[in-house]
Amino acid sequence: MKIAILTSGGDSAGMNAVVRSVVKAGILKGCEMWVVREGYEGLVRGNTEHSEQQAQATTQATVAEVQNEVANQPILAQTDSDKNLLHNLRFGDGELLKDGTSEYVGGRTLKGRYIVRVGWDDVRGWFAQGGTLIGTARSAAFRTPEGRLAAAFNLVKEGIDALVVCGGDGSLTGADVFRSEWPQLIAELHTQSLITDAQMEAHSHLKIVGLVGSIDNDMSMTDLTIGAPTALQRICEAIDNINSTAYSHSRAFVLEVMGRDCGWLALLAGVAGGADFIFIPERPPNVMPWEDEMCAEIDRHRKIGKRKTIVIVAEGAHDSDLKPVHAEYVKQVLTDRLGLDTRVTTLGHTQRGGRPCAFDRILPTLQGVEAVEALLEAEPGTPSYMIGVQENKITRVPLMEAVKMTRAVAAAVREKDFAKAMTLRGPEFAEQLDGFHHVSCLADESHMIPVEKRMRVGIIHMGAPAGGMNAATRAAARYCFRQGHTPLAIHNGFRGLLDDNVDELTWLGVDAWMARGGSELGTNRTLPSVDLGAVASKFQQFNFHALLIIGGFEAFNALLILEEGRKHYPAFHIPMVHLPATISNNVPMTEYSLGSDTSLNALVDACDAIKQSASASRNRVFVVETQGGKCGYIAAMGALATGASLVYTPEDGINLDMLRRDVRFLKTRYSLDPPGRSEGRLVIRSEASSSVYTTSVITKMLQEEGGTLFDARSASLGHTLQGGIPSPMDRARAARLSLKCMAFLERHHEALLKQPPHKTKHASPDSAAVITIQASSLEWVPVQEMVQHADMANRRGKESWWAGVRELVEAMVGRPQFLGMH
Ligand code: ATP
Repeated sequence: MKIAILTSGGDSAGMNAVVRSVVKAGILKGCEMWVVREGYEGLVRGNTEHSEQQAQATTQATVAEVQNEVANQPILAQTDSDKNLLHNLRFGDGELLKDGTSEYVGGRTLKGRYIVRVGWDDVRGWFAQGGTLIGTARSAAFRTPEGRLAAAFNLVKEGIDALVVCGGDGSLTGADVFRSEWPQLIAELHTQSLITDAQMEAHSHLKIVGLVGSIDNDMSMTDLTIGAPTALQRICEAIDNINSTAYSHSRAFVLEVMGRDCGWLALLAGVAGGADFIFIPERPPNVMPWEDEMCAEIDRHRKIGKRKTIVIVAEGAHDSDLKPVHAEYVKQVLTDRLGLDTRVTTLGHTQRGGRPCAFDRILPTLQGVEAVEALLEAEPGTPSYMIGVQENKITRVPLMEAVKMTRAVAAAVREKDFAKAMTLRGPEFAEQLDGFHHVSCLADESHMIPVEKRMRVGIIHMGAPAGGMNAATRAAARYCFRQGHTPLAIHNGFRGLLDDNVDELTWLGVDAWMARGGSELGTNRTLPSVDLGAVASKFQQFNFHALLIIGGFEAFNALLILEEGRKHYPAFHIPMVHLPATISNNVPMTEYSLGSDTSLNALVDACDAIKQSASASRNRVFVVETQGGKCGYIAAMGALATGASLVYTPEDGINLDMLRRDVRFLKTRYSLDPPGRSEGRLVIRSEASSSVYTTSVITKMLQEEGGTLFDARSASLGHTLQGGIPSPMDRARAARLSLKCMAFLERHHEALLKQPPHKTKHASPDSAAVITIQASSLEWVPVQEMVQHADMANRRGKESWWAGVRELVEAMVGRPQFLGMH
């Protein structure tokens, strides 16, 4: 198959990772890969040297007219990107890395060539770059039937039969229009004698697959769009920076963020940045005039001593009458009514990205592979798919259904049917908004649940610190205040509990915890088994009605011990829940733990810097050691996110045969680099992969074996992987999962209240559970059930869902092909 990929509409971080992944996955499947530069505009313009000949050959063809017209316009591609594509241009299929196979090599310009065949090395190192290196545009010509006829002609001319489009809903609509018109376009080209009978037959169908590249996260039927996590990161960095100055001067800040029809960025920034009030298009403030509602809320915050105020306004925000809400006006209201010293910050194009975060490297890589699979499996009768993601599962959904649903949200907003708009956005969006209100609004007694249902909730951190632990605690505490429960902080784990190190959290006290790394409560690995009887008596002393444990494998172990302790101690007959938080992501049955995203970002940042240094020294291999205990998740995912050449995990171990093959691979790879153009390469080794083949041994071995081809150095990332400031995705997930945990505790507490008052309470086994993400859904797993899936000796799950990632890492560096060459 000949597959072309284009990026279209507004650029977003991660688009380059999509192109890289699609090109590589296509080559690995034996396809010929092409890129179309400058989006649909490039498709219409095609390759001008051909079209000039074509224009001379025909007098009446509309195709030639369109092409002539566009050929007279200035060339969009700039010299820099020409260089980029010319640099090291080689073809992939079968001819992998053999010099001189490219008709374009040797200084021929790519100017005026918009549809270009690409090879393996063209897309090397594209991960770390923001925007899109193949260019994007908004094409008026493609919106016209003549433009699409020219586009069809250009594809047939190059023999391309499948198209991958990465863009927003407009771009995907364009793709669908193109595909549905294809048979007529081909017939028309044939009628105009622009294509032969054989071409008409060979190109009777066009296969299309869509990937959503958009910073707004505005597409229905997928949880995330490519570029949205990076944009959110940029916004949260800005909020974190503003927070300190706002606090110092006791100021209010109004931040305008992108999002014309979609409030995802504003909402998630509100959740992750700990804002006081937000304006999003899908759900304007309930109360009119909204000025009253906003001022009342912020006034309540100020009255209890809050020194800073953050209001976030999506650019498409409006009130319930669709009257736009502008940041400047919000500022005016805050200044006039509350007397606050208020400033406006409009983030603008800084949100478009820059360097993609880890999520915007991993997701596009997995989705790009899936896109190629979808094309290879496509039949003429099957609908075009859009590749999406649900929780942790890459999905294929009918492209036009997703586009229609997306459009329906905007239509519902225009019709002021905000309930419908919220439903169409999907349950997670509604959950996040609900969560925001729970966490940011100060409730009065009238909102709280009846006194007899209220709980005293113990909150404890266990194990090593992980990004998002504090955000989860903040959300739980704020939920407690809203409902009338009492949140009790247990400091320094079970050791602290035994020392009576327990106190009540306050609404204001947890205010800044969203953005704090480490563990505000203090954490350690002491298990309750240190003195179970004493722990039970402390549960009684503090009168806990429920317990939230935030942590990693120890937390799971602690919950297990407490549940088993129910046989002997009535104090443990309360609902207890474990929210996984560990950078190792080693809790059984869950595919995600708080902190793992922060950690991957720390790893990506470090590896980008290391790779740069390695590349500067030309031919250097860096062996990077990661944490993760006996679980190789962070190493494997980190390798995928950084394009590492090799990865060693504890699950697979290291042996001599492996090392011999790996050395052979690196030697082959370096020997095929053009003279003087060798690149730095990464090897990622999880700390517990082998007790014999340590990082130092492997580095020395590579130094010895690399000879004149390459040199080796090592770097240990150690505790830096705990990550400093938690990533926005970890913060937002922390809030969402923590609130779910609180609802779980409430539900089971109510069930206990229904038991006869004079009898000893008996909590059911499923009231001691772990919240997990499994593929596309969120599941509660009773702790006793978890045991069957746990490898207790190695402190990890028996199954690792990411086991295939290592193979993908190797495929993405072309290892099977390169090894096959010798
Ligand atoms: P963003 O989310 O950044 O706005 P988008 O993909 O929605 O991205 P648009 O400007 O709507 O951006 O669309 C990009 C291009 O897709 C348009 O310039 C046009 O070439 C093509 N396109 C959009 N809608 C159609 C359509 N109905 N028919 C043909 N082509 C279309």
